[in-house]
Amino acid sequence: MNIHEFQAKELLAKYGVAVPKGAVADTSIDAEAVAKELGGTVVVKAQIHAGGRGKGGGVKVARNPAEARDFAAQILGMQLVTHQTGPEGQRVKRILVEAASRIKKELYLGFVVDRASGKVAVMASTEGGMDIEKVAAETPERILTEIVDPVMGLMPYQARKLAFGIGIPAELTTKFGLIVAGVYKAFVENDCSLVEINPLVLTEEGKLIALDAKMNFDGNALFRHKQIQELRDFDEEDPAEVEASKYGISYIALDGNIGCMVNGAGLAMATLDMIKISGGSPANFLDVGGGANTETVTNAFRLILSDSKVKGILVNIFGGIMKCDVIAQGVVTAAQSLGLAVPLVVRMEGTNVDLGREILAKSGLNIINAADIREAAEQIVAAIAPSA
Ligand code: GDP
Ligand code: MN
Repeated sequence: MNIHEFQAKELLAKYGVAVPKGAVADTSIDAEAVAKELGGTVVVKAQIHAGGRGKGGGVKVARNPAEARDFAAQILGMQLVTHQTGPEGQRVKRILVEAASRIKKELYLGFVVDRASGKVAVMASTEGGMDIEKVAAETPERILTEIVDPVMGLMPYQARKLAFGIGIPAELTTKFGLIVAGVYKAFVENDCSLVEINPLVLTEEGKLIALDAKMNFDGNALFRHKQIQELRDFDEEDPAEVEASKYGISYIALDGNIGCMVNGAGLAMATLDMIKISGGSPANFLDVGGGANTETVTNAFRLILSDSKVKGILVNIFGGIMKCDVIAQGVVTAAQSLGLAVPLVVRMEGTNVDLGREILAKSGLNIINAADIREAAEQIVAAIAPSA
């Protein structure tokens, strides 16, 4: 789960990380008032769950309250497009107005769960304020990494090594160490999967301030963090994905036109691959899960059909714990109640498969049966191909 920059800053501040003074506003009048209270130059920042806002015109430095109001009016309600939003962009509902910092140097500080070691990796770089993925790809030697032993915790020498490596002035080494230790504590206590401060700035006044903050949380651990759950902003998430999560369905929208309903994440991935190999393009990843019943299948169908790009549906089920007849009944009920208007290919295998096929055959629905996963993919691709 993602949260907004202003929320991440509030949280990190509790762990001793210095952040600029500021407040959130959702009207330009409020933004002006915040700017007046702060006094001097301020920064007006779009609050959306995506980075790269600066380049997209979502971060502006205003010299006085009137200018802050004008920038706020421009940014609020805009469809902000960044390299992380996709071409349609994301609507800005709120802005953060902060006292501007006088930047001497932009640094990078990042924390992730490193899958290779199964530990938290702390990364620091002199290349702050930039697209860190680009730095990693082109000049990986400019990113220093320390792997933290979960039992020992972050050791002071590790923070000093990073400080030295990215040229933190000697008099700020201790301060830098406190920031790294504070973020590490926040990371562990809140079950984060990622924390990024990009940039962490060294100011002209000789201070270290988190100018931007991004925090991701492990969805599987959210049940034990009620305060974090409350920070969730559904407006920033795909509505169909939010809907799916209510039914225990894993759904991820993609940009193709073949809707998929599969049980099991591995089989779902294989199905997407097979559609691609057959020359088609999947509209979604959808895993109905192991305990799917008629209701789950109906909801899954509704989700798939709510995407207007869908021109055909491929159902690929392996009946293990889940029985094929139950799924078949679900498919028939869903197709009948929703009025299926696109071609439907079903591939089923496993427990009670004969019973399942019989249910499909007797339903009177125009369902194309497929013997295996390759045939299923080829059939749905052929079924939606414009006839010559
Ligand atoms: P992002 O583009 O979404 O990552 O948004 P950031 O919060 O990182 O801001 C983008 C850039 O705006 C930063 O890298 C800075 O160069 C600039 N910026 C942000 N806040 C300030 C500020 O207080 N003073 C100055 N001078 N520049 C700022
Ligand atoms: Mn940033």
